[in-house]
Amino acid sequence: MVDARNIWKNDIRKTAMLLETLSNAIEKENIIVSTSCSLLHTPFTLKYEEKMDKEIKNWLAYAVEKLDEVSLVSKIFFDGVDTLNEKETLRYQNNIEANTSRKNSTRIHNHEVQTKVANFTKTEREGSYEERIKIQKALLGYKDLATTTIGSFPQTPEVRKARSDFKKGLISKDVYEREMKNYIDECITFQEECGLEILVHGEPERNDMVEYFGEQLEGYGFSQNGWVQSYGSRCVKPPFIYGDISRPKPMTLAWTSYAQSKTKHIMKGMLTGPVTILNWSFVRDDMARGDVSKQIAVALSDEVDDLQKAGIRMVQVDEAAFKEGYPLRRENISEYEKWAVRDFKISVSTAHKETQIHTHMCYSEFNDIIATIEAMDADVISIETARSGNELLKIFKEVGYKQEVGPGVYDIHSPRVPSVEEMVKQIKLLLEVLPKEQLWINPDCGLKTRKWEEVKPSLVNMVKAVEIVREGL
Ligand code: GLN
Ligand code: ZN
Repeated sequence: MVDARNIWKNDIRKTAMLLETLSNAIEKENIIVSTSCSLLHTPFTLKYEEKMDKEIKNWLAYAVEKLDEVSLVSKIFFDGVDTLNEKETLRYQNNIEANTSRKNSTRIHNHEVQTKVANFTKTEREGSYEERIKIQKALLGYKDLATTTIGSFPQTPEVRKARSDFKKGLISKDVYEREMKNYIDECITFQEECGLEILVHGEPERNDMVEYFGEQLEGYGFSQNGWVQSYGSRCVKPPFIYGDISRPKPMTLAWTSYAQSKTKHIMKGMLTGPVTILNWSFVRDDMARGDVSKQIAVALSDEVDDLQKAGIRMVQVDEAAFKEGYPLRRENISEYEKWAVRDFKISVSTAHKETQIHTHMCYSEFNDIIATIEAMDADVISIETARSGNELLKIFKEVGYKQEVGPGVYDIHSPRVPSVEEMVKQIKLLLEVLPKEQLWINPDCGLKTRKWEEVKPSLVNMVKAVEIVREGL
């Protein structure tokens, strides 16, 4: 009766009514009121959320508050509203008011956004893939087996400290920006020295690939202590979408343009895709997920356009959580795929033929979704395959996948530095499956959790391996 997969207050009056209806079919004494699943997926308690906006906080319920809801609902259902004591009556009243306030708040409903999103019908990019890639190869001039990375470089203690000091107001914006720019400079110098061909700025300004965008989008809220388990001892603090989403101003443009101004190489712009932003956030429950995702996609399409207008020639739109978002029930899969593919395409629909769109996916079993990945129509996809040899890749050959692919040639989840020989072997294996014209060479995910002393020799070895393989071709 109480949804334990989100953070929204239950509508207690409605739930009590639903239980009444159920009791026409089931004996009351056989009904047990509970949360929809374990409370593992919600943060612990709202009690310590001191910085949150009062109005928004009033719409939320974390685990402890959900238990209160279960007890209140069951009391109303089993014993009747009249039996509530003074405190419980007040809680019930507050619940009714909170739900009304959420339904009517102008902070949730933004007509301008709704109109823009409803009228946004362009889902196809200019030109077919074949046409685009021909133009891009000529214009961007990258070689076969082009080398690149997935976006982030090590988040050093200094980078984290600068971000947190800035957040706490301990350092000025100028000092903060100087520090970030220094870090970007270092990333560029390293990439140039080691011979990487397509560069990235390193993402030092991002705490997390979803929270960073959430913080800059209208319609997003954040918690101080809303931690939930991701896997093992890893935890995340997902932001939450409470209202219509829009982009008040460019989100990545300044950092990316700065980075591009520091190098002659192509600087890849780096965005998180709409489906991943959605899947790694708590999402409003008063709107279909696909509709929320479309709002994010429209906002991102403006970012892509701003980047290309500023001279950025490649933009990577990460869909790390694309596969993770698949519904468990088979009958719901095609619906998910429909809007997930549509919204990825909307987010890059502004890209001209000349602008190369990359995407990246993590830990995926691609076999069953290969047609869907192809339908996303990205020019290049980098994927995590290092841990499974080239097994995963065979499917790309089997289905005659046409777009370019960067199968990760080493596993970034391990601190181990892969040797040149090992990566030469790996690249040769890839070449047994896909032609050199279709292959990119990169690590299998972002490098932010690694240390520089692991990243540097690994990438140096990766570039050497590519040189050796190219010579032999
Ligand atoms: N661009 C992101 C990074 O490099 C991608 C992260 C991911 O795939 N999880 O960190
Ligand atoms: Zn990844």
